[in-house]
Amino acid sequence: MKAFSSRLSRRTFLKQNSLAGLGVALASSSVAALPVIGSKSAQVPAILGGPQAWAEDKWPIWPQWNPATDEKQLLEVVRSGVWSRANVVTQFEKEWAAALNVKRSLAVVNGTNALVIAINQLGIGAGDEVLVPPYTFIASVSSILSNGAMPVFVDIDAETFQIDPAKIEAKITPRTKAIMAVHVLGLPVDMDRIMAIAKKHKLLVIEDACQAHLAEYDKKKVGTIGNVGCFSFQNSKNLPIGEGGAIVSNDEHFMDLCYSYHNFGNPYGTAVGSVSTGSVMPGTKLRFSEYQAAIGIAQLKRLDAQTTTRNENAAYLKSLIKDIPGIVPYKLYDKVNRGAFHLFAFRYHKDGFKGLSRENFIKAVKAEGVPCMSGYSTLNTQPFLGETFKSENYRRMYPKEMLDINQYNEQNRCPVNDQICNEEAVWLTQNMLLGTKDDMKAIAAAIEKVHHNVDKIKTLGQK
Ligand SMILES: *Cc1c(COP(=O)(O)O)cnc(C)c1O
Repeated sequence: MKAFSSRLSRRTFLKQNSLAGLGVALASSSVAALPVIGSKSAQVPAILGGPQAWAEDKWPIWPQWNPATDEKQLLEVVRSGVWSRANVVTQFEKEWAAALNVKRSLAVVNGTNALVIAINQLGIGAGDEVLVPPYTFIASVSSILSNGAMPVFVDIDAETFQIDPAKIEAKITPRTKAIMAVHVLGLPVDMDRIMAIAKKHKLLVIEDACQAHLAEYDKKKVGTIGNVGCFSFQNSKNLPIGEGGAIVSNDEHFMDLCYSYHNFGNPYGTAVGSVSTGSVMPGTKLRFSEYQAAIGIAQLKRLDAQTTTRNENAAYLKSLIKDIPGIVPYKLYDKVNRGAFHLFAFRYHKDGFKGLSRENFIKAVKAEGVPCMSGYSTLNTQPFLGETFKSENYRRMYPKEMLDINQYNEQNRCPVNDQICNEEAVWLTQNMLLGTKDDMKAIAAAIEKVHHNVDKIKTLGQK
């Protein structure tokens, strides 16, 4: 079986190819996985029926869970019957604040609503503009819209994938209230320049650190540098709880307000279940629960070591692939001490691959057993913006000319981001960076193999 599938007869090979086309790893599952390096790139690429560079099922699973160390407190919570916000949530908040070296942390339902609350309690709403990069998850932008404010897109720096500080000042108007610094991919934004611009123009800084747990800029954890930092603990994130989020800040009064807002407007510290405390301000309910906190406390124990591993593997993988023509890995700003590497990103230039499209490059690398993807599409051109502007709410809040979607699109063009999203970005997910050095070699080998065999791969699917 093994001999057969790794040495397909010409007839079988052609038949399978014509039937399966691009994107299907042919006859590869029964082939033993070997870290293929250097000279082995001469082998037939997996997309053409050759052996895979790596077996797909060998990548570290996510999220991680160890019954022996992770379940004791969770079971205690479940058995106690105290499931709504109480001591375990408070314990988690203290541990998260300590991990970031920040005064306060408030756990909430998710990262999206951490941003919604933060924006709301900074007093940002109808008529206000918030500067935001288009290279991010939709929640960065929807949290601005949920508050009735207006997102204004600032193009990104192609080398770092982050908001480009050099393009911020041109976008500031009398309506601008804040800059949302999104540490996208888990890589820190150039915070010195952001903070300097914010100071000069009296703007607030909201850090969307939903992908950037324990990332560090100038010896400070990201999320603690601006006025407020927001985190996500969604399943895929580096600190996974399924769902969850946190707001962090050194401004204690602001954190008291966030607490009240997330708990019906009741005074800060009010115990859950009290019904006659008297709401001191308008609020809603976005509370975290005890069993979520127990999972978070267990996950937090491994986060620092995992972050170190991701940094080491990212640097190693970067060194392995940076000289392959057409591959340009992420760059970090000078003052970055540590990344979170929620994603490992590089730019793909098809010129280095004889014109092979990014789509087919990704299919060929995936066929080698190395999962990868093209990442975000252009957020600033998506229909949800126009739909929001058509809503009754927005029409009551803004003059007509501000809601003209064609004009908005024109003013919010981000050509660098277009290029990155539509042509260049390739992502690997954070769990892959928890693997071994051999895993990193396998990723590099898969890319090298595709590069080496690009003539053959290009002819596939052309008939
Ligand atoms: C995940 C994410 C969010 C939203 O977090 P959820 O917990 O999924 O609501 C916001 N911003 C960015 C950049 C994210 O990656």
